[in-house]
Amino acid sequence: MIYLDYAATTPVDSRVLDAMLPFFRETYGNPSSVHRFGQKAETAIEEAREKVASVLHCRADEIIFTSCGSESDNLALRGAAMARRSTSGQKWILTSKTEHHAVSKTAEQLEKEYGFLLEWLEVNEFGGVSSEALSKAVCNDTALASVMYANNEIGTINPIAELAGIARSNNILFHTDAVQAAAYLDVNTQTLGVDLMSLGGHKFYGPKGVGALYVRKGTKLLPHMTGGGQEYSLRAGTQNVPYIVGFAEALSLAAEERESRTAHVKPLRDHIIGTVLEVIPESQLTGHPTNRLPNHASFVFKDVDGNLLLQMLDSAGFACSSGSACKTGNPEPSEVITALGHSRDWALGSLRITLGVDSTSEQVDSFVKELPGLVEKARKLNQR
Ligand SMILES: *Cc1c(COP(=O)(O)O)cnc(C)c1O
Repeated sequence: MIYLDYAATTPVDSRVLDAMLPFFRETYGNPSSVHRFGQKAETAIEEAREKVASVLHCRADEIIFTSCGSESDNLALRGAAMARRSTSGQKWILTSKTEHHAVSKTAEQLEKEYGFLLEWLEVNEFGGVSSEALSKAVCNDTALASVMYANNEIGTINPIAELAGIARSNNILFHTDAVQAAAYLDVNTQTLGVDLMSLGGHKFYGPKGVGALYVRKGTKLLPHMTGGGQEYSLRAGTQNVPYIVGFAEALSLAAEERESRTAHVKPLRDHIIGTVLEVIPESQLTGHPTNRLPNHASFVFKDVDGNLLLQMLDSAGFACSSGSACKTGNPEPSEVITALGHSRDWALGSLRITLGVDSTSEQVDSFVKELPGLVEKARKLNQR
């Protein structure tokens, strides 16, 4: 079985696992306890916070540890929207239809249940948000804008520094979901200029179930989990010490090894894109042709059932995805692919191949050899 779904999740790096293990049975104290067991656990968390801060070029007290990327997105949007409305009365939220559901569904809930106003930013044919689109949408009553750094389904990278600059000059809070981007792109909060940024451990060889939110000093958020004073009173609950340690280690390694990991996956990715577009009739790349994540290839095939193709690929020994992993079993076309302007007969046939540190050219060769026949077979079955 060949794994080609690193955007859905990654295996835990053995160095990360080694860093985590002592915190299950040896250093198991509650970081809020006064005694030495607690102090040791607290020290581990504060060291992890420093480590994350050094990758993000920010202060340690600007990092909030959460349970996942989705929670970071929820805290950012709900927390900032609520705080903004109570301090300045601003009610508009700007985001796009190509966001991960952790952002788009949260924005929709804020509109439907909490009385906020929601405007969907225009996206271009590559699923990206331009500075013009954001400039056009801002008004005096805008509370915040949220635009993802890199798209999980189609790989497109957004111009975050430009977008954050526009937000700043209009006095709007700017959040970016960098959950998918952090594995390959620079997550320097100073050069990006964002106020809020979400990260999730399992997309860069860390464990599942741990994330972080960068909160620029002075940015007010309504806590979304109330209770103890953990995480600067923004996120109550005893911290998951081993996972936080693993998150920091994985992020640190991702930053250190960013160039070599990129150099490894990019030619393999380019080989997949080149071959698929050349060999498979009625195939199109989704997302930007060049300004995209280096490990990410995504396509639509006309008159193909994407879920059927995934099953056929699975039987043939390849693990891929059709859009977002959370959407398997859903016969509706992905909202992201639809937002690119594809009609239903194309949009239902989406396929995502994402590579990682363990991908090899032999794996990629056997994939591009098998895929054309499987697409043809799926197409024939679709016509019946
Ligand atoms: C995976 C992902 C998330 C959700 O992260 P979890 O840690 O799985 O909750 C959010 N946004 C993007 C862009 C993602 O790729």
